[in-house]
Amino acid sequence: MRATLDGEMGFLKSPRAGGLGYKRRVTAAQPHLKPALFLDRDGVLNEDRGYVSRWEDFRWIEGAREAVAAFNRAGWLVIVVTNQSGVGRGYYTEADMHRLHARMTEDLRAAGAHVDAFYFAPHHPEAPQEIYRHPDHPDRKPNPGMILRALADFPIDAERAVLVGDKTSDLEAASRAGIRGLRFCGGDLRAFLAGEALLPA
Ligand SMILES: [Mg+2]
Repeated sequence: MRATLDGEMGFLKSPRAGGLGYKRRVTAAQPHLKPALFLDRDGVLNEDRGYVSRWEDFRWIEGAREAVAAFNRAGWLVIVVTNQSGVGRGYYTEADMHRLHARMTEDLRAAGAHVDAFYFAPHHPEAPQEIYRHPDHPDRKPNPGMILRALADFPIDAERAVLVGDKTSDLEAASRAGIRGLRFCGGDLRAFLAGEALLPA
């Protein structure tokens, strides 16, 4: 699903990506580019109860599935970008996280909704396992790495991309990736997006 479209579409190295190897599309008007809704996970799609890793502890945010379905229907890409330092800290494994995302995907499908891609940042500066240890990984929000990667992986019109997150680190990541960021402070996600005049009819 994360097709690499290099060559076909004329990618350019992004000066903003600063040597991280991310590529960014030429921004001239390209009608095939799609709008994209970037969603933080914990606190936006599901209640943030702290390091949620088990389906038993997972609670959807009200209106979240309905919001995703509405954006799907309108032709938006819906992309989750989530810090998962619980993996790096050793609280749960990547496999646990993927299992949870698979359950989310099943539930979304039942609601006529889907997420186009999950990007996750498992790193933490004090991770016991070396593979997850990094002082300031470019993917870990507030760094913009996950968003930049998605912008390179999918045909997204960055001008029509918006990230919804519940923390300042989400908004900073959006800003540094050059896309709009919106702070969601709880409640009904669908109603929130409708209030921002973003929810497609
Ligand atoms: Mg959050």
